[in-house]
Amino acid sequence: MDNLLEVQDLQVSFFTYAGEVQAVRGVGFSLGRGETLAIVGESGSGKSVTSKSIMRLLAKSAKIKHGSIRFEGKDIASLPEKQMQDIRGRDISMIFQDPMTSLNPTMTIGKQITEVLKKHRKLGGAEANRRAVELLDQVGIPNPDKRLKQYPHQLSGGMRQRVVIAIALACNPKVLIADEPTTALDVTIQAQILELMKKLQQELDTSIVLITHDLGVVANMASRVAVMYAGKIVETGTVDEIFYEGKHPYTWGLLASMPKLHEKSEELTAIPGTPPDLSDPPKGCPFAARCPYAMEICHEYMPEYTEHSETHRAACWLQDSRAPKVQSPLAGGD
Ligand code: SF4
Ligand code: MG
Repeated sequence: MDNLLEVQDLQVSFFTYAGEVQAVRGVGFSLGRGETLAIVGESGSGKSVTSKSIMRLLAKSAKIKHGSIRFEGKDIASLPEKQMQDIRGRDISMIFQDPMTSLNPTMTIGKQITEVLKKHRKLGGAEANRRAVELLDQVGIPNPDKRLKQYPHQLSGGMRQRVVIAIALACNPKVLIADEPTTALDVTIQAQILELMKKLQQELDTSIVLITHDLGVVANMASRVAVMYAGKIVETGTVDEIFYEGKHPYTWGLLASMPKLHEKSEELTAIPGTPPDLSDPPKGCPFAARCPYAMEICHEYMPEYTEHSETHRAACWLQDSRAPKVQSPLAGGD
């Protein structure tokens, strides 16, 4: 496949007064054209740090220590900020969880959209305005002419996220990184925004990296999934491989904690325990302390990836030929 984005052995740390926190510990994945890759995991798994590394929007205390981020073959991990500014918003755009963090409260919607168009597309005033109206229309905002003159606070949360999507798509980016794009919205609006993203992706052929903790969103949106835990990708596969043939006990735990139809949310089985402290990461499998199947070796050595298909691999000692055979709880339906 001809990959648009290729991340290899990415390592990102935060340097705090208390020492180094290894938030991302050797992450690698690729993104093909027009594809949606979901990165899933609990909060603190390193998924947002990964996405911010791609955008080069990390906090000052964070540093990319190692690895490469190739966009159309060119490593952008160490690109000077000036050059990165040309790529950001034009080739790679990002949508965050809370639309208010990406919108400027003191600027009209229109100004915020036309600024992007003027900067990256070198459009003149009238042309940029015309395009802004078009964009708002495309993301399903009624009366775009009127909306352009309004400020973010005059719009509902769902409408604001539509504006953010319009801005993100203003320059037809090749890659869209959506970090929990619907988490802050109520359920009906969530579904609408996801539908909108799907529709736009088909129209514009944008590739999407979707960061989420919600496997329901993954099933609905993605073609491939990377499961992250404690700064590592522990399993990756197609949606079917992850949902029906998942190999990693953490993946099983995530799937078990997914609300099922006809089940009240109180009946969810959250994975007991907490993720490891990444200022002092465990030397073995990072999931060992919470894993019901942990063996002695798990605490001592990090498992390598085992390939189950061209698209499916998992890092777990259970996949070793010498390990006891464990029946996947996914087998045989529910
Ligand atoms: Fe569990 Fe061991 Fe597999 Fe880690 S390597 S997920 S501790 S069985
Ligand atoms: Mg996050």
